[in-house]
Amino acid sequence: AASGAGDRVVRYDASLEQRLSQRATIAADLRRALGAGEFHLLYQPIVRLPHGTVAGVESLIRWTPADGRTVSPADFIPVAEDTGLIVELGAWIIDTVCAQAAQWLRRHGQDALRSIAVNVSARQLLDPNLPEVVASALARHGVPANRLTIEITETAVFAGGRALTTVQALSQLGVNLALDDFGTGHSSLGLLRTCPVNAIKVDKSFVDGLGGTPQQEAIAIAVHGIAERMGLYTVAEGVETAAQARRLHELGYRHAQGFHFAPPLPAAGIDALLEENSRL
Ligand code: C2E
Ligand code: CA
Ligand code: CA
Ligand code: CA
Repeated sequence: AASGAGDRVVRYDASLEQRLSQRATIAADLRRALGAGEFHLLYQPIVRLPHGTVAGVESLIRWTPADGRTVSPADFIPVAEDTGLIVELGAWIIDTVCAQAAQWLRRHGQDALRSIAVNVSARQLLDPNLPEVVASALARHGVPANRLTIEITETAVFAGGRALTTVQALSQLGVNLALDDFGTGHSSLGLLRTCPVNAIKVDKSFVDGLGGTPQQEAIAIAVHGIAERMGLYTVAEGVETAAQARRLHELGYRHAQGFHFAPPLPAAGIDALLEENSRL
């Protein structure tokens, strides 16, 4: 190796190259994986406080290639966005979620789940066909629009003028819209007025501060206050402890999600919880 400075450059290049080639490998593999049925969805309960009964679920995608690994969506969703494959993958996700929702509502009753949420990324919001994809999946499976929640991020809505138009068209369909990771993106409180959302998902980073100093708790408290005045639901994300759950309830939160209640589960795990719910 040459000088220290040269070393650093070489090492940086090597890891960048590695990352780029990993991305290229993922990109090539994603399309094949979709055809090969290597994706599946898990569903994490969104519960009512304080008792923890299931109010809804959020679908979360997993990729399990034949070698037995599970690849995190944090690793492949960005690649699927860059390559545009997210549009096709997204349509598969929406259809699969609607098929599953129809099954739960049939088995456990139309009121068994208030909402079934699906994540939609920035690139999908730029696709003018998205509202049609959603409408036809709902119709195909006979799911009422008001049972579906579409989770979008502030950053995605800011991505372009068309994103907001798509969001308005989705809202016209009668589906619910939730602002995900609230407070972590290019946030603007003004967005709450222009974007027709029904719910705010308060990011884990603010939930982590509960039980801490007034400064650490301030955002989770303030966001709930704003949401309440605007007639929006709040869901606290990433609740990991009983103490956080108790504090959220004290602060007026009615819905929460996190490992303290349940991790993302296979569909059958949700069936089991809904059976339990119905016996309460
Ligand atoms: P997200 O939408 O904010 O989803 C919440 C993430 O937090 C999930 O990670 C979930 O497993 C995790 N989580 C839930 N409870 C807890 C907790 O108590 N503690 C901690 N530390 N984590 C918790 P996951 O499943 O790895 O998904 C990561 C991100 O990937 C999601 O963040 C979302 O942005 C994206 N994603 C997942 N599924 C989809 C999908 O179907 N479509 C799109 N477009 N994006 C998806
Ligand atoms: Ca989400
Ligand atoms: Ca989130
Ligand atoms: Ca997140």
